[in-house]
Amino acid sequence: MIQDKDPESANSSELQEIIVKIHQESTDRNTKQQLLSLIALSHTKKDLQQLIPGLTVYAINEARKHAKTNGHGAIIPKQLPVFRHRMDKDKLDHALDFFFSPSFHQVSSFGVKEMKLDNGNTVTIPEVVRTACHATLINVYTKFCTETEFLPLSRSTLFKILNACPSSRRTNLKGLDNCAADGGASYETLLTTVKEMGNYVVDEEVQVELRDCKDSLNASKIYLKTDFKAHLRKCDKCPDHCINYSLSDPTDQHLQQHCVDHQHDMVCERCNLLPQAVSTIKRRLSELDIPDEVRNDLLASIDVAEAKILEWKSHIVRGVNQDLARILLLEELKDGECLIIMDWAMKFLPLAFREKQSDWFGQKGVNWHVSVCIFKDENQNLMQRTYTHTMDAVKQDWVAVASVLEHTLRTIKIQLPRINTVYLRSDNAGCYHCGSLWLAIPKITETTGITIARYDYSEPQNGKSYCDAKIAHMRGKIRRSAASGSDVLTASDMKMAIDKHGGVTSCQAAYVAVDPNSLVKKITCPIKAITKISNVRFNNDDTITAWKAFEIGNGKKISINSTLNDVELNVDVHANFTIPTQPDGIIKKTNYAKTDRFRVI
Ligand SMILES: [Zn+2]
Ligand SMILES: [Zn+2]
Ligand SMILES: [Zn+2]
Repeated sequence: MIQDKDPESANSSELQEIIVKIHQESTDRNTKQQLLSLIALSHTKKDLQQLIPGLTVYAINEARKHAKTNGHGAIIPKQLPVFRHRMDKDKLDHALDFFFSPSFHQVSSFGVKEMKLDNGNTVTIPEVVRTACHATLINVYTKFCTETEFLPLSRSTLFKILNACPSSRRTNLKGLDNCAADGGASYETLLTTVKEMGNYVVDEEVQVELRDCKDSLNASKIYLKTDFKAHLRKCDKCPDHCINYSLSDPTDQHLQQHCVDHQHDMVCERCNLLPQAVSTIKRRLSELDIPDEVRNDLLASIDVAEAKILEWKSHIVRGVNQDLARILLLEELKDGECLIIMDWAMKFLPLAFREKQSDWFGQKGVNWHVSVCIFKDENQNLMQRTYTHTMDAVKQDWVAVASVLEHTLRTIKIQLPRINTVYLRSDNAGCYHCGSLWLAIPKITETTGITIARYDYSEPQNGKSYCDAKIAHMRGKIRRSAASGSDVLTASDMKMAIDKHGGVTSCQAAYVAVDPNSLVKKITCPIKAITKISNVRFNNDDTITAWKAFEIGNGKKISINSTLNDVELNVDVHANFTIPTQPDGIIKKTNYAKTDRFRVI
């Protein structure tokens, strides 16, 4: 009796032939496995190896396993990339975010460089990564980690990451905002000078004095790096610790905050370490029996180094004071008010650290703009909602920021109708710290019905931890989505990945394009010396009030004409915000309330 072939296998030899053919032609391991899984269970290993010459037993086993667990011919799930060093992916992302963050490279004014990928796409690499010395980048980064209480990858791993960046490295540091790095290096300059002087000194007493100077300099450096910050007060008898005194502009009475209740008559030992050491060094230098030429060279380098250190010091004071703007605002936030912290996050993975192009979302330079909106609920708890805009190609300029801001406020008006006043905050990257944006803000207030009251800028790398935290949550979600087999390649994919399964707690995403029609003609901004301004209040009489430092002085009133009133700022909304299952997140009080010392009593 001839057994009928079951219908499924009737055309199986033909199918088998096709499978074998595609298998042989395919170069992709996953495709091969997928194909093999179709026939792996219905044939013996020997048969299979005869059908497909060169087929390994391992491949057959894998295909069988796959057929059993995922089904015959199922798509092979994408693997998470395997890092050679088993790096914590969140830490890797954190580091890359930092190294490739626009706020970091924008201050460097190096611009960007296009890089071609093997799939034909191009990505933009900030020039600073190619030009700044890796050690400096890593120092700035680890400092940032300490400040935000993030445990980074090891230094050696960070070096490996930067070395893997497909770009040559030079050691030109010019233009890079690195007060701290410069300041630290300047201490080294002073120490070297002292050492050099030691070569000419014979007198034992002077030798001892110079050695003391060395100790003082080292102690002073550690002090600036660590405790100094904690000594700062809004008012203090030590002039170095008095924020009001340090940040007042001696040349402009609008930008001065007078200390009426105290004198600056206290000399603090640790603040005095540097000036004392410098004056001793200078005095001894003038007494040395050396050619004037050498002496003048040394003097000049001492002066430059001291100035750099003082700059670092004032950078620290400014940072603390600008942070105070945020802290006080959150403490005193009223019903109907909210603080919006904005930041760009651009994703980028260096070539050596990814396995598969497909795993590498953000490869086309998908841009995300994040606006963390913080407000108080009925019970006075601080809550936050994060509005993310994903965009394919976009120029990260003030037009993009203004357009995205307008859309965010329109959304807030609908979702949180109680909000009627917002305060803005961002770092001082060029797209934010920009007179044109200030000119456009009254118009945004008008069209959205939400008053933009003030804009405070933070020092670079300061106080965007809210944004970083939210970006990390969303990235985790996107990564899980990619790992489960969905391609996340475009801004649209990203929005969908974030929205999946009820979304990410307190995070919403909209996929938009900045309307190229909102292209704004070059306007001449009437506001002068913009880089010095760090706080702006928008008044309702066509003026703004600007400060160099938060609450130092009454500010300078500047009139702004309404040149931008006819500008249409618009985003093209391809897919609008979807409220996640958990719309709001809670902000823990410990994150902001720790600053009684800043209160003016
Ligand atoms: Zn004072
Ligand atoms: Zn002190
Ligand atoms: Zn002091």
